[in-house]
Amino acid sequence: MSDTFSILAADKLAQEGLDYIQSQPDAELVNKPGLSEDDLAAIAGEHDGMIVRSGVQVTAKVLAKPGKLRAIARAGVGVDNIDLEAATAAGILVMNSAEASTISTAEHAFALMMALSRNIGPAYRTMCDGGWDRNKFNGRQLAGRTLGVIGFGRIGRTMAERALAFGMSVVAYDPFYNQPTALDGKVKMFSQVADLLPEADILTFHVPLNDQTRNMLDADAFAKCRDGVMVINAARGGVIDDDALLAAIESGKCAGAAIDVYAKEPPPADSPLRNHPKILTTPHLGASTKEAQLAVSVSAAQQLLTYLRGEGIIGAVNAGGLRVDLDPIQERFVDLAQRMSALISPMITKGIGSVTFELTGKSLGSAAGTIERYGLIGLLKGHLDIPLNIINVASVAEQRGIELRTVSIEDEKVTGTQIAIEVRSPGDQPELRRIVGRVFHDMRPRVVEINGYHMDMIPGGVMVLILNEDRPGMIGLVGKEFGDAQINIADMTISRRDHTAMMLLKVDAEPTEAMLNRLQARPGILKVAVVKLPVEKA
Ligand code: NAD
Repeated sequence: MSDTFSILAADKLAQEGLDYIQSQPDAELVNKPGLSEDDLAAIAGEHDGMIVRSGVQVTAKVLAKPGKLRAIARAGVGVDNIDLEAATAAGILVMNSAEASTISTAEHAFALMMALSRNIGPAYRTMCDGGWDRNKFNGRQLAGRTLGVIGFGRIGRTMAERALAFGMSVVAYDPFYNQPTALDGKVKMFSQVADLLPEADILTFHVPLNDQTRNMLDADAFAKCRDGVMVINAARGGVIDDDALLAAIESGKCAGAAIDVYAKEPPPADSPLRNHPKILTTPHLGASTKEAQLAVSVSAAQQLLTYLRGEGIIGAVNAGGLRVDLDPIQERFVDLAQRMSALISPMITKGIGSVTFELTGKSLGSAAGTIERYGLIGLLKGHLDIPLNIINVASVAEQRGIELRTVSIEDEKVTGTQIAIEVRSPGDQPELRRIVGRVFHDMRPRVVEINGYHMDMIPGGVMVLILNEDRPGMIGLVGKEFGDAQINIADMTISRRDHTAMMLLKVDAEPTEAMLNRLQARPGILKVAVVKLPVEKA
């Protein structure tokens, strides 16, 4: 890793983002917005990180020779212009800076709510057309009304805070928020959306679009709403069923809707959502403020450097459950997982069908994704010829049909906090490899079991694993081979099971190939493997 990170700004960024990079002593800015695909492909690999907006296309071709590129930060939300599959395969982390546009988007949803309640859109139109109609545009006051917030994340909560300040009552639904109330008891939370719908005068959506939220406001849901309900969507198109909305407006069930986002953007010119007297529309303007654009560019630069410095991952789009901001105990276990997997990797002779990470202890839960990925790298590294890292290793394993399982056992009373890695080969009679490790109070890692052989060894430096028949003379034989080769044995553990024994040796120098072949050929020696691990500091 270099001491100075080269950051390529590949789109036009707000000056504040560029200034931020230049103010960092370990960052060097290369500002080249507007490059063609070929030109970007030619230089992308020369930089540690890249910042983009929605202009530049980061295609598979651009990422074909990733060089030293480790991360791409999108100043903004949508990452449609980045080939995520190609980035993941190349081990490049992709991040977005959704958080930076929270206030702007909530303010826009709020502006839509106010405009909808006071008929600002159609009133303005009438004025433009030379009209003057004060009765037609009689509106509704917000104070005293109940706002139903669907999706109580960053934007939903920000919207709720503002609604409370306007004297509204606020109720909310979010299946991933398990408290009866929020915002100091001021917001009543519902655990079923069907229970919230009859309580709200205005519904506002702030959910991601997924299988659970697609068309979540459909005809059935409208039937449960108050008569004259108003609806706001500044989240994602597709959350509201457009046909059901139009029907509800037609029947009078819905008094009006304000929409910033569409299933297809832009919506077709003949879309019934356009030009409807009771539907107020804006062209996806939620994050379109000077402040949000400034904040996303600074935030993207900060996120990029945080990751490159190894200080954490913020706003990852393609990293799954990966965290690098671990506490010291978790860090030791991540290190141990790498050592353990490297130790058993040479014993895997029939391929990998499945890998199970068994994590015992509450403290390991939030580091599970990271432990899994580092463990996988250790297992696969010696067997695959493609560069592996924490970003691409899970998808490489998946592409190869390797089944991954993580079992978390919270109760650590019996074993203490520990990791077990179990590798099974494919097929009917799978070869099973299992290694168990712990970190003791001295914070040093120990391997305590390999394939059912119990031991206590700090894994580090040059390690030799020897499987042999359990009969007299074997220790002497091994000792003599190393002695003859002038290699000092620094540590050794022996464990026996089913007439075989396993020796795990830590030696001061790497044995030559010839010596290993000699040892392997000795009667009673079943298997010899050498693993070089980072030296474990005392
Ligand atoms: P967030 O992740 O902070 O919040 C989303 C919330 O939705 C979470 O609390 C989650 O638990 C909840 N949720 C998930 N599934 C749900 C379900 N089935 N029912 C109810 N709640 C559910 O995200 P955010 O930053 O608040 O963004 C919210 C939405 O706004 C996103 O869809 C985002 O794409 C959109 N957005 C739009 C604009 C715009 O320009 N209009 C700008 C920024 C964000």
